[in-house]
Amino acid sequence: MTAPTETRKFEAEVAQVLHLVTHSLYSHKEIFLRELISNASDACDKLRFESIANPALSAGDSELHIDVSWDETARTITVRDNGIGMTRDEVVANIGTIASSGTRRFLEAMSGEQKADARLIGQFGVGFYSAFVVADKVTVITRRADAPESEGVKWESDGKGEYSLEQVDQPQRGTSVILHLKADEDEFLKGWQLKSLIRKYSDHVAFPIRMPVEKDGKPTDEFESTNAASALWTKPKSEISDEDYQGFYKSLGHDFNDALAWTHNRVEGSQSFTTLLYIPSQPPFDLMMGGRDERKGLKLYIKRVFIMDAAEELLPNYLRFVRGVVDADDLPLNVSREILQHNRQLDRIKAACVKRVLDLIEKLAKDEPEKFATFLKAFGNTLKEGISEDATNRERIAKLLRFASTKGEGARQNVSLDDYIGRMAVGQEAIWYVTADNYVAAAGSPQLEAFRAKGIEVLLMFDRIDEWMVGYLGEYEGKKLRNVAKGELPLDEAEKKQQQEVAKEAEPLLKKLKDLLGERVGEVKVSARLTDSPSCLALSDHEMAPHLARLLREAGQELPESKPVLEINPGHPLLKRVEAEADEGKAKDLANLLLEQAEIAAGAQLADPAAFVQRMNRVLLGT
Ligand code: ADP
Ligand code: MG
Repeated sequence: MTAPTETRKFEAEVAQVLHLVTHSLYSHKEIFLRELISNASDACDKLRFESIANPALSAGDSELHIDVSWDETARTITVRDNGIGMTRDEVVANIGTIASSGTRRFLEAMSGEQKADARLIGQFGVGFYSAFVVADKVTVITRRADAPESEGVKWESDGKGEYSLEQVDQPQRGTSVILHLKADEDEFLKGWQLKSLIRKYSDHVAFPIRMPVEKDGKPTDEFESTNAASALWTKPKSEISDEDYQGFYKSLGHDFNDALAWTHNRVEGSQSFTTLLYIPSQPPFDLMMGGRDERKGLKLYIKRVFIMDAAEELLPNYLRFVRGVVDADDLPLNVSREILQHNRQLDRIKAACVKRVLDLIEKLAKDEPEKFATFLKAFGNTLKEGISEDATNRERIAKLLRFASTKGEGARQNVSLDDYIGRMAVGQEAIWYVTADNYVAAAGSPQLEAFRAKGIEVLLMFDRIDEWMVGYLGEYEGKKLRNVAKGELPLDEAEKKQQQEVAKEAEPLLKKLKDLLGERVGEVKVSARLTDSPSCLALSDHEMAPHLARLLREAGQELPESKPVLEINPGHPLLKRVEAEADEGKAKDLANLLLEQAEIAAGAQLADPAAFVQRMNRVLLGT
């Protein structure tokens, strides 16, 4: 018995996506074909995979292919595959509702401040909807490979808010997507135009994409293949051109930019596998959004059969920007995600992937400085996560990092730890760094003064992850990394002695300041860090930098309150003034301002900005 036609509403968010897609993609309309072919190819992959356990699924029609045809009179384009197909429930779940969190992420990315490029649509898992950019009606006719002929499903929608569902007889398995073109989209009703789009965007789909042979300018019933239709990674490197590699990358990553670099390797032996791994030239959208769920981008094949997206199983998080393919010869075809998570063979493949990617980045660093700079700009901060995540490769990763420095070129982050060590003075034991919110704040830190005076280089770190990363790194090539704001400075005997004398002499001043500031400070000390500034904050070894504490508090995290240690430069005229000031109120204003300017320079939050302003005005006016 056939169920009657049913009309349903799209979920609210799907309707929003449809609206956004049609309005933001109109200048790149042709993307629809790439997306529909990509879905057809996925459907063929799924059928091939399920056929391993159940050969009957593809019996009688085992040549998987994708057909693209057009009809000038009916003004339709049809993309048809003989892949896995969908049941009625699957149609509803996959194209009527929010099948993945992709829908929401797409909405966020397209309306957020930093708008994503709509051409990345395929990366969001909402590529199907691009059909509505050129069509005012889309019909999907599909039958799941294991369903009877009578359980075909016809889905139809004008993309305006509703869709209809109908049960139909469908002798062939698989899916046809029929686009009823909008009035002004005639350019797509031409064989050569469709063919050139397939060549441009889908040449590296591993299944034949067939088109009708034309006779007297009209399509006939005979089909011929238009693409290479072979798994690129299985060919010998010598037979693959750079264009081939780039073309494959673009369809794999739903990207329209070239990849920055790639590495293609075959390992033969007790365990054989092929890896083809790409570094994109720009962050994929999931990286921009900071998304960590549902990582895609690395496809696992076993003997050329697509098994699953296995980015999480095959690459550590800090390399999540990598796109590519791993094809293993020796894994059982019936592997599941659970098995993959504790599979020793897979561990070996994973280690090989990490090694290949790090090799590739090292090669860029050595031979292609411009590309390496592009890489660091896009993924440098992601790579830094590896310092904590991948203890085995910590030194290798650290070697790749680049920082700004007091001996570098302004804000340019191009000084390596090796450069630093190469320039260290005789007897210098530590690698010194300062962390701040931004370059200007880092370069202007009062704590740098003594280092500048002594000619000691300091790395200027101002990426949010740096403080945390450096904490994990701890040391490099046997040299400790030390924050200029923390702990004792490296003074020679004479300097120590002099420092002690100054401190002794300043004792009454220190006591006066401590009394004036009371609970606001933990301690007041004479600083060895300052030459020009009157004051700065010093941190204890395990204390977080004030700018970071402020960011975390702003993000809603609760942190223990700690009382700052105020360091002063007793020779500075402002401290002379505090010393000489007999009026308690005025002395208190000066003392508080010394603390507050140290806090501001460290990027900390002022506890009471209004009080600070009033204090400053009193001092400026001399009242
Ligand atoms: P994605 O391909 O990233 O999942 P899409 O919006 O392109 O996102 O497609 C949504 C879903 O619709 C697919 O995941 C798939 O389940 C289903 N689908 C689309 N086209 C086909 C097809 N030709 N055959 C089978 N399923 C399909
Ligand atoms: Mg898709």
